Amino acid sequence: MRRVRTPTGLDEGGLERALELLREAVRRRGLRSSSVRESIARAALQREGHFTVDDLIRDLRTTEGEVHTATVYRVRPLLVEEGLLQTTLVSSSDGAHYERAFEREHHDHLICSQCGKVVEFFLEDIEELQRAIAKKFGFRLTGHVHELVGTCRDCLRTDA
Ligand SMILES: [Zn+2]
Ligand SMILES: [Zn+2]
Repeated sequence: MRRVRTPTGLDEGGLERALELLREAVRRRGLRSSSVRESIARAALQREGHFTVDDLIRDLRTTEGEVHTATVYRVRPLLVEEGLLQTTLVSSSDGAHYERAFEREHHDHLICSQCGKVVEFFLEDIEELQRAIAKKFGFRLTGHVHELVGTCRDCLRTDA
């Protein structure tokens, strides 16, 4: 079992590689290039840890001025499908979050339902079991979200 470190935002080099991948995807999909889309990708990739779409919109409003919520929601699936972001903490009380997937190792989450604390971990046995389950039912896996929900040590202590 390994504790996975929550990363800081992507550095300039990583950001350039991510944006190049996005531009390629935009060409492949025959979409128009858009500076707003790139600003959204940039803001998302520079964010630390886990964030909601609302967090992202708040960031963008400070750096880019007015950004339409609908635009952010429209760009989001592309960023997820192209592997720049992944959906995470779907069991969280404030709904689904996102986090950088680009140039980051896979990990799973433990969530405290009282204070929202998140622990990121990796355990090969769990990965192996999930592959075995998929194989048994004839699925080819493209991803998974594995989350454990409970009460963290600090909140347990406060309760007592
Ligand atoms: Zn807690
Ligand atoms: Zn995470």
